[in-house]
Amino acid sequence: MVVTIFALSPEFCFHALMSKELAQNTFPLVNAEFLHSLGALLGSTAMVGVKDKKFRYIYANNSYEALFRTDPGALIGTTIKNWVTKDHAAEIELRDAQVLDTGEALKFLEQFDFDGRKVNCATIRFPYKGADGSTIGVAVVAIALADETQSSARKLNSELDKAARVISDLQQTVSQLREQVTTDQLTGVWNRAHIETSAKREIEMFNRYGHPFSVIFADIDHFKNVNDKWGHATGDEVIKAFCAAAQTALRSTDILGRWGGEEFVVLLPNTGRMSASLTAERMRVAISDQDIPEVGQITASIGIAVSSIGDTFESLLARADKAMYNAKEAGRNRVEIESAISLDDPGGMDDYYEVVTPNFVGLIWRSAYECGHPLIDTQHRVLFEQSNELMGAVLAGQPKDVITSQISALLAEVVQHFEDEEAIFNETEWPLAKEHHDIHQNLVAQASDLAQKYENDQLEIGELFSFLAHEVVAKHMLADDRKFFPYLK
Ligand code: GH3
Ligand code: MG
Ligand code: MG
Repeated sequence: MVVTIFALSPEFCFHALMSKELAQNTFPLVNAEFLHSLGALLGSTAMVGVKDKKFRYIYANNSYEALFRTDPGALIGTTIKNWVTKDHAAEIELRDAQVLDTGEALKFLEQFDFDGRKVNCATIRFPYKGADGSTIGVAVVAIALADETQSSARKLNSELDKAARVISDLQQTVSQLREQVTTDQLTGVWNRAHIETSAKREIEMFNRYGHPFSVIFADIDHFKNVNDKWGHATGDEVIKAFCAAAQTALRSTDILGRWGGEEFVVLLPNTGRMSASLTAERMRVAISDQDIPEVGQITASIGIAVSSIGDTFESLLARADKAMYNAKEAGRNRVEIESAISLDDPGGMDDYYEVVTPNFVGLIWRSAYECGHPLIDTQHRVLFEQSNELMGAVLAGQPKDVITSQISALLAEVVQHFEDEEAIFNETEWPLAKEHHDIHQNLVAQASDLAQKYENDQLEIGELFSFLAHEVVAKHMLADDRKFFPYLK
């Protein structure tokens, strides 16, 4: 008996598979095409069949059908139970199940018994994987043995070993290649896998060096209507148009990816609250400004989260998603950013989202921020408003001298407020008064320094604004000052 099998060079198989699959941009680990070429490579005697997870045949080549002595296509949809005795079928399916359980290629020397017609075969089974890489069944390659002499069996055995290695290498290579595919097929923007990889790197940079990192979560508004009204193909065009518009608003370092369906994630490396808000708002405008053929105008709701200590990408994304959800709730076509402020008595974090209303990012004053002292409360409120005005001026693209004078006014207000506040502290003999005075001094010194840098073009307005609005006004007033509130009552 001569068994000339497995002239199966990994390179050959690989190219046979990849040239077609890469061209089509789909990445099944193994598909019918591949199995055909596998049969061809192994010679006309090689029987190749595939069963789904319930062991129903979903593919069989001519030789496989010949083994069963059936007509073309007759095997499809049946199981081995339709062709052999119950016990024998159970024996065979046990081997199939073993492959599904282990996820590995397994070889056997086995005898098929078709109603007394016995056929000795060497077989190799391996997990059959679908386009997404998940196992959808078992592929079987069988070679009928003309006789069963020890030596031919041994020889076959070692050939099967080789084949098993080839198949396993092949699967690994294809799976690695698939992972390297990083773009979304419909839109060409990054895919989810790439976003996850990049985000992990950014989180690491944040943890190690403190580089700020923000995440945008965007979801097209009422997208289902588009599909319902104009059909899925038009829906796809809208998704593409969304990406094109978003890209125009993003900077070259921003990473836009399709998270799934009509949901998108943008990673903003080295970006804090202010720049993230500006970017998201630019994105919102770019999306709603375009005129899409047939459909007209679309909008999106956008949420932003900014990395803080202890964040993982999952936690950060969950907050961006929540902010996006808030934007939906509040009427859609808007940007919301999670608040930088966390109070001791949050009583529902929903209250502490800042609204980035169309064309405006602002701090919202809430009655919960009041301490009960009329002067302190009024000044706090004025500082909120002044920060908002500054933000408005920045967003409106006001010239630098206008911005600079607003900054000076805000700084002067801050200094005045600190003085008044300290006078009140001193009246109450608050034990932390001295410490609080030092905090004030420090904040004013830093703010003046940053303002000077901005004037000298050494600092972006975004950084200065972040410090003034969030560190000085919001965070200090709502966190540090609150320690004093109980002494007033
Ligand atoms: P909302 O403003 O609350 O986000 O409403 P919505 O209609 O956009 O949200 P919903 O999540 O109810 O619907 C999203 C729809 O997007 C449902 C789904 O059929 C459709 N979709 C998901 N992926 C694709 C795709 O790739 N192409 C097309 N054309 N439609 C898709
Ligand atoms: Mg959705
Ligand atoms: Mg939607």
